[in-house]
Amino acid sequence: MIFAVASGKGGTGKTTVITSLAAIWEGPVTLVDLDVEEPNLHLFLKPKVMRETAAMLEVPVHDSDKCNLCGECAMFCQYKALAIMGKTMLFYPEMCPGCGGCLKICPEGALSPGGREIGRIAEGQTEFGRFFMGRLRVGEAMSPPLMQQVKQRVVAQGSHAEMPGGIEGCVPDDVLIDAPPGVSCPAMHAVMDADAIVLVTEPTPFGLYDFRLAVEAFSIMHKPMGAVVNRDGIGDQGVEEYCRESGIPIWARIPNSLAVAQAYSRGEIVARKLPELNGIFQELKKRMRAAVTVSREVERA
Ligand code: SF4
Ligand code: SF4
Repeated sequence: MIFAVASGKGGTGKTTVITSLAAIWEGPVTLVDLDVEEPNLHLFLKPKVMRETAAMLEVPVHDSDKCNLCGECAMFCQYKALAIMGKTMLFYPEMCPGCGGCLKICPEGALSPGGREIGRIAEGQTEFGRFFMGRLRVGEAMSPPLMQQVKQRVVAQGSHAEMPGGIEGCVPDDVLIDAPPGVSCPAMHAVMDADAIVLVTEPTPFGLYDFRLAVEAFSIMHKPMGAVVNRDGIGDQGVEEYCRESGIPIWARIPNSLAVAQAYSRGEIVARKLPELNGIFQELKKRMRAAVTVSREVERA
C-alpha cells in the first residue's frame, strides 16, 4: 500500500509522523522524500546512500543559424519560456518544464533537445527499508518534474525486498511518501499515487485554516483520508469540530509534550525515543491500512 503523509502547512509534525511510522512498521517500508524543496527525512532516518544522480530536464537548444525567427515556437509555448525580441530569440529555461512541443513544431529544425539539471536524486537504504529522496536545485521552481523522476526510480527499483532471516523470496514493500506542505501543484503531485492520505495538523485556528484547505484540495482525488492531530491539548476544538462535520476521521492524536519536541529537535525518531507513544503509531498504521482495505472493497463492490 502507498501512503502519503501531507499537511496544509509546514511545521505541523509530518516528519515526526512518517519517521515514527517507519520505526513501528511491521516489515520493510520504502521511504520516499518528495518534499524536494526542503527534504529532511534523511536527517532522522540516516540512510546509507548508495547512489546519487542528477535529475535532468529536457529543454530546447536553439540554433540561431537555422532559425528564421518565424515565432511559431513562442506562440506555441504555453509557459512563455520562449519569446522573439526583434531579431533575437529569448529562452527562459527556468520557465520550461520540458514538454518538448517546440522541438516538434519548429519548421526549420532549429531547436534540438538539451539537458538542464534541476536537482539530485539520492537512493539508499535505511534500517527500515529502501530510501529515495529528491532535492531541488537552489532557485529552481520545477518541483513536479523532479518528483516524477524520483517516483520513476522507486518503480524502477521494484517494490520488493528480501524477506527477513535471509529467506530467498520477495514481499511487497509498503511505501510512505513525505509530501511537501501546502496544497499547491507539488503537494497534489506527491499524493496523487497514494492509496490513502494522512493529513497532519495542529489544533489551532492557523492549523485549522490550512487543514481545511488541504482537505478541500485533496478531496477531489476521492482517496481515503484521515487526520493526525499533533500537539493535542493546545489550542481549541476547531479541528475536532471540523473533522466531525466533514466526516474526516481522526486516526491519531499525538500529545503536546516537551519530550516529543526535544526528541525531534535532536533528530531522534519520536516513536523510538518515547516507546510509550508506540501504541499511538501502531493504531494509526492500523487505521491507515483499514481505510485502504475498505476503499478497495467498496471499489470492487
Ligand atoms: S519555430 Fe524554429 S524557426 Fe521559428 S522562431 Fe522558433 S526556433 Fe526559430
Ligand atoms: S519544451 Fe515546451 S515548455 Fe519548454 S520552451 Fe518548448 S514549448 Fe515551451
